[in-house]
Amino acid sequence: MKFTYDAYKNMILRLKEHGYIFSNYFDYRIYDKSVIMRHDVDNDLGKALKLSGIEHEMGVTSTYFVLATSNFYNIFSKKNRDILRFICDMGHSVGLHFDETQYSKVDENWWQEAVDREIYLLEQCVGREVTSVSMHRPSKDTLNSDWDIRSGKVVNSYGKEFFENHKYLSDSRRNWKEDVLGIIEKEQYNRLHILVHPFWYNETEETTKDVLATFCKGQIYQCYDELDRNTRNLSELLMKQELLVWEKVNGEDNGRGTV
Ligand SMILES: [Zn+2]
Repeated sequence: MKFTYDAYKNMILRLKEHGYIFSNYFDYRIYDKSVIMRHDVDNDLGKALKLSGIEHEMGVTSTYFVLATSNFYNIFSKKNRDILRFICDMGHSVGLHFDETQYSKVDENWWQEAVDREIYLLEQCVGREVTSVSMHRPSKDTLNSDWDIRSGKVVNSYGKEFFENHKYLSDSRRNWKEDVLGIIEKEQYNRLHILVHPFWYNETEETTKDVLATFCKGQIYQCYDELDRNTRNLSELLMKQELLVWEKVNGEDNGRGTV
C-alpha cells in the first residue's frame, strides 16, 4: 500500500465495503464487525488535521492521540487548540499519546500522577473529556503492565483487549508488517485495530527520506515565522531568504544535498 491520501481513502473504502463499522474504544462492542482506526500524532498536528478532514469527507471517524510533552508542537498554542477542537467537531475523538521517556520512574506507580495530569491538561485544550490513552514508543514493562487508568474510565489502547481480541495492524516506521489490504479483503477478523501515522502520508508517493527531509526543512521556516512573531523587525536582523542560502551552503559542505 502506498503512503498517499488516495491509498488511505482506498483503505477506508475497502473497510466499508467489507462491512467494518468505524468505532471508538467504547462502542465497538455493539457491532458484529468493527474497526478502531487510531492515529498517533508524533510530530505534526497539521498532518493530523489533513487526515481527519479526509475521514470526515468519507463519513468515518477515528481517534487522534496527541502528545502533551512534544518538542514539535504545543497543544496549548491557539493554532493547535483550534486544530484539536476542529478535529473533535468533525466527530473524531482526541486521546492522550503518552511519552514515558519524559519522566523518571521512581516506583511502580510512577505513571499514575503523570498520566492523570496530562489527561487533565489535554482536556483543557480540547474542551472535552479525554477517555483514551496510547503510549508513545512504550517500553516492554509498560506494554506488559496493562495500566488501569482512572479506574477504567479511560481506555488504555495498549490494553490486552485491543491486542488479544483485535487484529492489530500498524504502519509504524512507514512499514506495514502485514498485508493490511489483504487482511481486510479476506475478512478473517471481525475486530480490527489499525494504527495509521498521519505523518507518513502525502498527496503523492514520496520516499521515506524525502518525507523526513521535508519535515525538517519545514521546521526551519516554522522556526523563522515564530521568531518573526516574537521579534520586532526580524528581517533587519535575519531575512528568511538567507536561510535558503544557509541551506545550500550546508548542503554543499556536507555533501548530502540540502538539509
Ligand atoms: Zn508515538
